[in-house]
Amino acid sequence: MDETKILLSEAEMPEVWYNVQADLPNLPKPPLHPGTKQPVRPEDLAPLFPMELIRQEASTEKWIPIPDEIREIYRLWRPTPLIRARRLEKALDTPARIYFKYEGASPAGSHKLNTAVAQAYYNKAEGIKRLATETGAGQWGSALAMACRFFGLDCTVYMVKVSYQQKPYRRSLMQIFGAEVLASPSDRTEAGRRVLAADPDSPGSLGLAISEAVEDARQRPDTNYALGSVLNHVLLHQTIIGLETKAQLAKAGEQADIAIGCCGGGSNFSGFAFPFLDEIIHRGAKTRLIAVEPSACPTLTRGKLAYDFGDMAGLTPLIYMYTLGKDFMPPGIHAGGLRYHGDAPLLCQAISEGFIEPVAYGQRKVFESAVLFARNEGIVPAPETAHAVACAVDQALACREAGEAKTIVFAFSGHGHFDLGAYDNYLAGELVDYPLPEEELQRSLAGLPQV
Ligand SMILES: *Cc1c(COP(=O)(O)O)cnc(C)c1O
Repeated sequence: MDETKILLSEAEMPEVWYNVQADLPNLPKPPLHPGTKQPVRPEDLAPLFPMELIRQEASTEKWIPIPDEIREIYRLWRPTPLIRARRLEKALDTPARIYFKYEGASPAGSHKLNTAVAQAYYNKAEGIKRLATETGAGQWGSALAMACRFFGLDCTVYMVKVSYQQKPYRRSLMQIFGAEVLASPSDRTEAGRRVLAADPDSPGSLGLAISEAVEDARQRPDTNYALGSVLNHVLLHQTIIGLETKAQLAKAGEQADIAIGCCGGGSNFSGFAFPFLDEIIHRGAKTRLIAVEPSACPTLTRGKLAYDFGDMAGLTPLIYMYTLGKDFMPPGIHAGGLRYHGDAPLLCQAISEGFIEPVAYGQRKVFESAVLFARNEGIVPAPETAHAVACAVDQALACREAGEAKTIVFAFSGHGHFDLGAYDNYLAGELVDYPLPEEELQRSLAGLPQV
């Protein structure tokens, strides 16, 4: 077979999500209530999430049906294409075959709409009128704003202030879909007012914006909270990426030797890689799974596996994960979506058991690969996605050295059309690497909660 775009018809779109909790030999330690430090009970989560998502969070059913109403909306852009990067292969002079799963095809421009649609649906079904959330770079906020509009829900987005200022077009996109967008820290919440009092010019952080959105949702019975990554149900909804990819590889007569994705909170990587893990665990498949993160925010490669809060104010449950410490303030790297201090517990569990290899890349090399990719394939990757591109390029070059014709597949989580400012900086030679100093890491880890 030598097609360049491997397509599935709408009828071939998966009807179920894959739940890795059915297959992992050991599940992660449970989330703990921030007050009692006892495992979180479903009723503790009920003020924030609909019951069906709480059930999915703890489910060990292997296959979870995708409701028709969600599949109906997925059909606007799914199944997404799997594309063979032939011109990139040629530019690298590699015998490897490189494929990417193009989630930039979604109308929000990234994979995030896969879970946004599902979350809006389940909230609507349980009578919720409004969702509150946070957004860093703006991808999650725009996906949720769009999904809320499709289901007639109101949406309030706390957007990290530095992004609010630097990415006005992401804000416009959310407003087009009718969302209310506030710069975080805002004066709408206790958490925001506290930070503003200490530093009126605070640039904000994702951890703080989460605190604000959670506080907002807690105060109003008609409002729930939605998170765009990290949680088990979010990873579950993203598995449609990996399930489609496997079906497409089978169509092309290919077996993945190496599967690569970038990692912020872990949702696109897990959604892409977990269905391969199913083959590895049950059928002895030999696919290498590689998770790529920024060396400026090296959660998986240098963080500590420990209980930590998901947010800055300590309102969320304690989550057992690799973490840099909730007070970690990432430097101003351009991959805004990869700056979270923690990572998804299910992904951390799979890494700690050796199923997945984490690696870290500096942003200069990442942008260099992104520009190479754009010049050959015509698509500008989001700075987050560019981390996966850089690793795929490295693996393809290793194949050239070794004379091995491996099949490399990576998750192309989103396009970079709203991130051209970052490319401007790169092209002007102004981009610097920020390897995290060890003392700073130790200082941040010293603040981990005692459990
Ligand atoms: C948000 C985002 C990421 C990082 O989030 P994950 O939960 O790790 O997937 C990566 N790529 C794009 C394009 C994003 O929008």
